[in-house]
Amino acid sequence: MTKQYGILAYPAKHSLSAVMQNAAFKALGIDAQYGLFEIPENELADFMKQVRHEPISGLSVSLPYKQVILEYLDEIHEDARKIGAVNTVMNNGGFLHGYNVDFIGAIRALEEVCGSLKGKRVTVLGAGGAARAICYGLLKEGAKVSIYNRDVEMAEKLAREFSEMFGVDVKYGSLGETSKASGDILIQATSIWMTASDSKLEDLISLEALGRFDIVMDIVYVPLKTPLIKAAAELGKKIITGDKMLLYQGMEQFKLWIGKEAPIQVMRNALEKNL
Ligand code: NAP
Repeated sequence: MTKQYGILAYPAKHSLSAVMQNAAFKALGIDAQYGLFEIPENELADFMKQVRHEPISGLSVSLPYKQVILEYLDEIHEDARKIGAVNTVMNNGGFLHGYNVDFIGAIRALEEVCGSLKGKRVTVLGAGGAARAICYGLLKEGAKVSIYNRDVEMAEKLAREFSEMFGVDVKYGSLGETSKASGDILIQATSIWMTASDSKLEDLISLEALGRFDIVMDIVYVPLKTPLIKAAAELGKKIITGDKMLLYQGMEQFKLWIGKEAPIQVMRNALEKNL
């Protein structure tokens, strides 16, 4: 019987996971299909009952369900538990396991450009679900992390929690304080380009402060060339666009579900065609 996978989100239509995963299934001759589960919040509980009893073998989980999904799962992997969010579910005969592979995708995208992250000074903009996963991955790899967020209380909460978890000093501030930021790597992990599409670079960081970083990554992939990526490219910085994290976390999901290495070139091509 054809195995079913899909993305659980609301809305889900903008997701590019289906094109990547379906291309990978086809290339490896796997009898599986990846669809969209666009489920409103008041139908989530019923949907999760259905997942357990009907043959839905795995889920990608996106906004707004990465945190609330935890209460519907039977086992949560240590990384996902520490991050406090799940972006991948595996259904083993009705037993639901939760994982977070967002951080693996982000770390791989970074390491292929800058090598080891140990000791690197990294500034993260944002303190939402994606920023949490990325900061966790960075600290696990031994980077020195500073977090800036529009709502400074969220940045402070995250910095305190991870300072305690990793036994290091995680600095924090508001977006209004990024003019003094500096370091090796800057990571844009807010949804600013999506929630306020007329936003400018200066709403996040000044050109002068941007100039103090060597590598600039933006995890937003719609648009792919964000105002930050464009400005960083003009300054001659090494840039990492959001499709890299998306691709590498998608490959991790494929590996968890199917138990085989994901076909990177097939998935990359499928993604590029649809961006
Ligand atoms: P989230 O949990 O909703 O967090 C949103 C973050 O963006 C918060 O830090 C929020 O700040 C900030 N923000 C929103 N609008 C803003 C604005 N106008 N100005 C400044 N800051 C603003 O979302 P998330 O899951 O972390 O996702 C963040 C973005 O990353 C989304 O665009 C998502 O599509 C993208 N993403 C990409 C990948 C990938 O694989 N490339 C993976 C995951 C997520 P406040 O706390 O002040 O509200």
